Amino acid sequence: MKTSDNPFRALPAVNDVLLLPRIAALEPRHAHDAIVDAIRTELAALRTQLAQGQPHNGDGAAETIAANVEQRLGQDLQPRLRSVINATGIVLHTNLGRAPIAEEAARAAYDAARGYLNLELELDTGKRSSRQNPIREWVARLTGAETATVVNNNAAATVIALRALCHGREVIVSRGQLIEIGGSFRIPEIMAVSGAVLREVGTTNITRVTDYEKAITPQTAALLQVHTSNYRISGFTEAVTTAELVALGKKHSLPVIDDIGSGALIDFSRFGFTEEPIARASIAAGADLVLFSGDKLLGGPQAGILAGKKEYIQRVEKDPLMRAFRCDKMTLAALEATLRIYLNEEMALRQIPVLHLLALPLDELKKRADDLATRLRAIASLASVETAADVSYVGGGSLPDQQMKTWVVEIKPRGRGDADFAKRLRVGAPAVMARVRDGAVVFDLRTIFAEQVEGLVGTVRGACG
Ligand SMILES: *Cc1c(COP(=O)(O)O)cnc(C)c1O
Repeated sequence: MKTSDNPFRALPAVNDVLLLPRIAALEPRHAHDAIVDAIRTELAALRTQLAQGQPHNGDGAAETIAANVEQRLGQDLQPRLRSVINATGIVLHTNLGRAPIAEEAARAAYDAARGYLNLELELDTGKRSSRQNPIREWVARLTGAETATVVNNNAAATVIALRALCHGREVIVSRGQLIEIGGSFRIPEIMAVSGAVLREVGTTNITRVTDYEKAITPQTAALLQVHTSNYRISGFTEAVTTAELVALGKKHSLPVIDDIGSGALIDFSRFGFTEEPIARASIAAGADLVLFSGDKLLGGPQAGILAGKKEYIQRVEKDPLMRAFRCDKMTLAALEATLRIYLNEEMALRQIPVLHLLALPLDELKKRADDLATRLRAIASLASVETAADVSYVGGGSLPDQQMKTWVVEIKPRGRGDADFAKRLRVGAPAVMARVRDGAVVFDLRTIFAEQVEGLVGTVRGACG
């Protein structure tokens, strides 16, 4: 480096830095302009430092600037969406993308994305077909519905069903079911968007068949039932069953739309969960249109499935919004693969991650917690590492009052606050999202995949440094 009395003049020119081999090596990965910008930013920072009278102690050497530029560009161009190890124990964590999908479903999406597929083509005739056909067939088999169709999510399914069947007319709903699911999905607002008119009946805790019946007029287009997925009313309550609502609908020639929410295709009482409606049961009870999410308890990609009578599904598909709400090829491929796994329930329990995580036995979780604790105890800079019994939640607005026993590992960092340490874990590589509680950072083993343990330990070690 040139020496000079004027430290500003000692700084290299942009071109000097550009010519260094270290910078030339960045050219294949980064745009030339971005490299030049990064060099300018580094130099500007050094000038500010000098102007404030701080000597730069060799920071001004072209080599050092080049190293900083390399680091800056690496950080700046990191993907903003990254894989995260979910150590929260919340199986359907909305902020972490809800359901992780089955390996086979992910591969189907990957293949669909990378190449061409018969998305809207019937291979044996060579004729144009509907992208809904594969889904129709599997949903019909799995739920007993006549047919089905799919849109981007269950919120969209609700809007399009109400619009196609009830636009400009009234829909009767119990006051106890006027829910907000979160993220501004509120039944009254969804109803307004769809152009249907909400006719609420009954009270928060009690609604009877007669309440619905008294509200029926020539203006009525449908009876709507909404599963109160994320809250429970207990105590003195009375609600109408799907079968009773269907009987009333039949009597007055009105369709019954049943928004069951989570999309359970199997009986969740096997996991100790009660009151979760099953799609097949709703169809069997006679609901004309059953709506549910693809990425809650079904454990597939984000989607909203409408299953039911052909005449109603056809009306939904003819609605102009269908074009705006339809799923892309990757989602459809992943959803089809997920549904095909469900044709064999034992296979579903093994291969659908959500079901597998919900079914993890407590002794297995304890063993995993002990193993993780042993590995974390090898990190000298942790003040404490303990295992403890705890509870996990389903999440995603499903089964709010139902907890699962689990095992966790609690660590206390030395010389750092719990929130600061949790942040270091989140920005680590791989990123780890943990719970924070009473000065400890808590890892719930239920949602940590076996193959992620290595990465988690590495991130904890990095966060200690
Ligand atoms: C979750 C839920 C929705 C919204 O589903 P998304 O797939 O999140 O759009 C609608 N209705 C009920 C009853 C739900 O539980």
